[in-house]
Amino acid sequence: MALPSQTKYLIVGAGVHGLSTAYHLALELRARGKGGGADILVVDKTGIAAGASGIACGVIRNNYFQPAMRALMAHSVAVWERDPEAYSYHPVGYMQISPEVMHEGVASIHAQQKAIGYPSEFIEGASDCRSYMQGIFHDWRAQGITSVLHEKKGGYANNKVSMRGLARKALAEGVRIEPGIRVTGFRDSGGAIAMVETDRGVVRTEYVVVGAGPWIKSIWTMLDLPPAITVIAHGTAHHHVTMWRYMCLQEGTLGVDPSYQKTNDGRMPPVIHVDTDAPLYSDVDGSLITRELWGLYYKPDFMFNGVQGGSAPYAVEGDDVQVDPYGPASPEFVVGDEFARMWCSALAFCQKRFEGKYPLYKREPSGGLGAFTPDNFPVFDVFRQNCYVIADSNHGYKMIGVGELVAKEILGERSVILEPFRFSRYAEGKLHPVSNSPFPWS
Ligand SMILES: Cc1cc2nc3c(=O)[nH]c(=O)nc-3n(C[C@H](O)[C@H](O)[C@H](O)COP(=O)(O)OP(=O)(O)OC[C@H]3O[C@@H](n4cnc5c(N)ncnc54)[C@H](O)[C@@H]3O)c2cc1C
Repeated sequence: MALPSQTKYLIVGAGVHGLSTAYHLALELRARGKGGGADILVVDKTGIAAGASGIACGVIRNNYFQPAMRALMAHSVAVWERDPEAYSYHPVGYMQISPEVMHEGVASIHAQQKAIGYPSEFIEGASDCRSYMQGIFHDWRAQGITSVLHEKKGGYANNKVSMRGLARKALAEGVRIEPGIRVTGFRDSGGAIAMVETDRGVVRTEYVVVGAGPWIKSIWTMLDLPPAITVIAHGTAHHHVTMWRYMCLQEGTLGVDPSYQKTNDGRMPPVIHVDTDAPLYSDVDGSLITRELWGLYYKPDFMFNGVQGGSAPYAVEGDDVQVDPYGPASPEFVVGDEFARMWCSALAFCQKRFEGKYPLYKREPSGGLGAFTPDNFPVFDVFRQNCYVIADSNHGYKMIGVGELVAKEILGERSVILEPFRFSRYAEGKLHPVSNSPFPWS
């Protein structure tokens, strides 16, 4: 079918944010008698779930040190819960298992979860933590742990299946989703965007939403937004700070039956995230891997067909990072043997059942790039008068609810939850607090 020459709302990207915005905007328009899905066109240079949303591990949690992130996640978890089947959502819960250096920070997360009514349990002290964990997994043996935050909500969802579920909901509302259309530029009228240029022609539009995931830097450039900015942190101005940096997420799968990771009482377990400062030794040859603070996360997953998870990402340097081909297709940004040895050793560090299982690690390309903001937190804001940019700084598969909040903002209803994520926070010095976690997204 030919690309329409005009649409009221044009959404760039069929990942979690583009699709969620399309679906919720369609619902909002219909409910307000202002139109519906037929007013919305989603274009994607490849197709549904072709980006980060289609390769995400899929972990959904509330555990964030930043109050604003927790409020956002609590809202998104509620959206996942609305239709677990369509979203392929598994509400198994989530555990943040931490060393002493993170104890105080995680205690404050628990206190604030209580205050917002988000159900979680907090266990303190090495001995109580070990007992609690062994009550779930008899073979638990991780060292250097002095607190366990057990979130009773959240869990994980299956990446591509959930995106197809979201797309089906949008299509059922009359939204049009066009794969194979690449946005190449924007044309102005009086400072606002009047037309979107694509490799298949120009589309006139009244409003643009960008959910371009790791490709945000190229769209940012098309929008003539600054490649470097001033960031005020703790009263000091830092000039020429690069707006978009990349990190490579390291993930993989151990090829065991997913049931291998069941709990003592035979249930599917919560998602496990462990950070520790205990030394990590190789389960392959006994050599020291690290004495620094390190972490891993894992969960049994029938789609990945094994126990799947990852470790901390690494920074990708340089101005010319090749985002395409993306994900497993990338020749550069997939994990190698170093990750496999570290992650399998880390699994064995946590649970005896993983000892000697490194040979079962699946030798398939996995992992991928994420684009990060100067403070590693999302930017949700309107630029050029009528272009809503959803740039989640790679936190975002779990943020299925952002599209709902954005849809309401587009229709004039400001969101208190989105307010702390405006672009102006860098110039105003209103940054989010930073945790002691070794991960850039906690
Ligand atoms: C390996 C990995 C694991 C992750 N695990 C988790 C996790 O467990 N939990 C979590 O919450 N988050 C996770 N994330 C982060 C999360 O996946 C992303 O933050 C989120 O999916 C981004 O969604 P999006 O809709 O912005 O972008 P994407 O899903 O990347 O979608 C962007 C789309 O835009 C399209 N596009 C780009 N440029 C153009 C253009 N010029 N014209 C037309 N279309 C264009 C792309 O083809 C793509 O389909 C992970 C990320 C990675 C890489």
